[in-house]
Amino acid sequence: GGMNNLSVEEKVTVKSKNLNVLDEYSKSKRKKSANFVVIGHVDAGKSTLMGRLLADQGAIDQRTLDKYRKEAEKIGKGSFALAWVLDQGSEERARGVTIDIATNKFETDNTAFTIVDAPGHRDFVPNMIAGASQADFAVLVIDSSIGKFESGLKGQTKEHALLVRSMGVQKIIVAVNKMDAVQWDKERFTEIEQQISSFLTTAGFLEKNISFIPCSGVLGDNITRRSEEANASWYRGRTLIEELETSEPYTHALDKPLRMTIGDVFRGGVQNPISISGRLDAGSLQIGDQILTMPSGEKALIRSVEVDSEPSDWAVAGQNVTLNLANIDPVHLRSGDVVCRASAPIPTITTFTAKVLAFEHLMPMLVDVHRGRLHVPARISKLVASLDKASGAALKKRPKIVSPGTVARVVVEMDQAVPLEAPTRIVLRSGGTTVAAGLLE
Ligand code: GDP
Repeated sequence: GGMNNLSVEEKVTVKSKNLNVLDEYSKSKRKKSANFVVIGHVDAGKSTLMGRLLADQGAIDQRTLDKYRKEAEKIGKGSFALAWVLDQGSEERARGVTIDIATNKFETDNTAFTIVDAPGHRDFVPNMIAGASQADFAVLVIDSSIGKFESGLKGQTKEHALLVRSMGVQKIIVAVNKMDAVQWDKERFTEIEQQISSFLTTAGFLEKNISFIPCSGVLGDNITRRSEEANASWYRGRTLIEELETSEPYTHALDKPLRMTIGDVFRGGVQNPISISGRLDAGSLQIGDQILTMPSGEKALIRSVEVDSEPSDWAVAGQNVTLNLANIDPVHLRSGDVVCRASAPIPTITTFTAKVLAFEHLMPMLVDVHRGRLHVPARISKLVASLDKASGAALKKRPKIVSPGTVARVVVEMDQAVPLEAPTRIVLRSGGTTVAAGLLE
């Protein structure tokens, strides 16, 4: 067509700068991004600790904090102010207290952190599974105070740790919290460290990927600044924020084929009629690249790129990105679809084997497979074996039933072809409850 009758079929062209993206990335001053999930027993101090982290890192302004404090004092819960930074739960609303959720992002000099799934909800496990499926690592919060550590162990501490490990999370930072309540007793800390460490290694975490920090979320000790308590002087290790920072380098698959799971699809902007957002799971991309979306098999052109809402010429695995696209009809783009390249497309499959942690009894049964926001009707067609949690070795072959708390290898058949490949994190649900979660093999 000529210049004056631009039709819908007219292909947009965008000049590529032909950058070596991995070179650009290693030269760039752009902060690394990392997602983590916070786990632990109810009342361990998760919300308070994360509120402290956000406040100390300047992610929340003083006025907002003061507002929380006032609201909290009004109902006689002054110490809850920090927790409210994160809590947006129904309990507060039920008391007629309305507080805008502030943020779940904060930055250090080197890294932009996102707390995936801010804690605070009573009905925590379903949220946590969603969070764990995007997490680079986990922070396990333990209440060190007398009696509480012990009841936490019987409660959700172990369940949560096992869950994140089953979802493929390899690194775990243990915040041994409320150390102020036990006068920074070193022996107490060591005892907790030994018990948790022995549990975590049985759950399949490698010793080198586990670290312990004695801290107090409420006082801010050993969170972003070293504790000044005389009783705490025996601890010479890292603060929580230092440990978060050293969790780098995150093993994002920069040199692997491009994979990006579409989170949201936006349409209708004048400048950018079709945009998709999501996290880059693997590989890299740049303006002018041709992409392939699966399962539609349609191609599109990248007109422009945003990383953490800032314009960029390129993006790499681990970053949260928005891609403005051309030459594609948005009917081919859905949340849960996968962006890749024609040279290395993601396979679409109907059957897979997965290693999962069972929350309910598993047997050949109907389930929904959830991967991020994508969900597909399916059935567990075969129980291959129950497995040892630490080594993954088969304990029992072809069991008739797998009981809750067991790790098992199962075969799943889906009702439709889905773009999926190992080691994707998946969740199996049935009748509205989560029955298992784990990794595609
Ligand atoms: P969550 O359920 O794990 O999110 O726990 P919260 O953050 O809501 O805290 C539960 C209770 O423990 C609250 O009363 C907090 O004030 C208290 N708490 C939190 N952190 C600390 C701490 O470091 N020391 C002490 N002594 N109490 C704390």
